[in-house]
Amino acid sequence: KESVARICSGQVITDLGTAVKELVENSIDAGATHVEVKLREFGLDLIEVSDNGSGVPPHNYEGLALKYHTSKLTEFNDLKSIASFGFRGEALSSLCELAGSFVVTTRTADQAVGVKLTYNRAGKLVSKDTVPRPPGTTVSIGKLFSPLPVRQGEFKRNIKKQYNRLLRVLQGYALICVGVRLTVTNTMPGKQPSRLIATQRNARLEDNVANRRITGLVSKAGEGVGRSDTERQFTFLNGRPVELPKVTRVLNEVWRQYEMKNKPAAIVNVQLPPGDFDVNVTPDKREVFVTGEAALLEALKAALHELWSPSRY
Ligand code: ADP
Ligand code: MG
Repeated sequence: KESVARICSGQVITDLGTAVKELVENSIDAGATHVEVKLREFGLDLIEVSDNGSGVPPHNYEGLALKYHTSKLTEFNDLKSIASFGFRGEALSSLCELAGSFVVTTRTADQAVGVKLTYNRAGKLVSKDTVPRPPGTTVSIGKLFSPLPVRQGEFKRNIKKQYNRLLRVLQGYALICVGVRLTVTNTMPGKQPSRLIATQRNARLEDNVANRRITGLVSKAGEGVGRSDTERQFTFLNGRPVELPKVTRVLNEVWRQYEMKNKPAAIVNVQLPPGDFDVNVTPDKREVFVTGEAALLEALKAALHELWSPSRY
């Protein structure tokens, strides 16, 4: 295809972070609302990403791990309007080439049973077996970089650093991917899996009052994240981190009307014209005086009620 030839190819999979990132992006592209990342020995032994997304339809089984196979673009022009993360069709083929084993289990919503697909390093489908599983997809990558001993050696030496970088990348996704629940676990030999990240789904908060704007992400109704609010609630004024205690108070008060336990996670940015606030109220400039604050808080309250009230679901 012409579109294929015009897309620059590059090295997609360079470390643990890029491997997991590509898989998580595929899951999000597939419309998943729950993505589970399982690592064994920090990903040295196994990287497995499961989702409850669309699943892979049978006509894609053969091509799935072949270079430039993508279901996300038909014409080069589509590149301009593309909304998904991936479209190059390189991630799975690269992972396949770099892994000791590459297995995909998948099921679409209209299939009664799942299928387990095994691919060789060239990306060729070598076996296909029926397996029970819920709709969605699991990609399992055994012993990444083992076909390239030098690279695998380097991978092993740097694993802790790569692992920490990966967690940071995933935290970012967890915050910004609205409507997606992300869990990450790591299992060491002979140990129980340890849970690293577990996020609830976020909902988008947005409100406009005469070029004053409140935007952000908050927990979905019923999916609060624990009792302490300071850890998981962040307030910003025009993109700068500041304490907005009244905003936080409204957030928790409205939340309490729908759910007694837990507190919502929240990232709230209040956007105001420059003349509408004064940051010099306290010596440490952390508290802010906002003109017309009461109206703003009322608007926030209304937006939160609309977001969280049960009638919306
Ligand atoms: P790209 O994402 O650039 O299309 P990839 O190599 O990452 O290429 O994936 C190849 C194709 O495999 C995708 O276009 C998609 O059709 C399918 N696929 C990959 N992961 C999933 C998944 N988790 N759920 C459903 N389909 C998937
Ligand atoms: Mg992709």
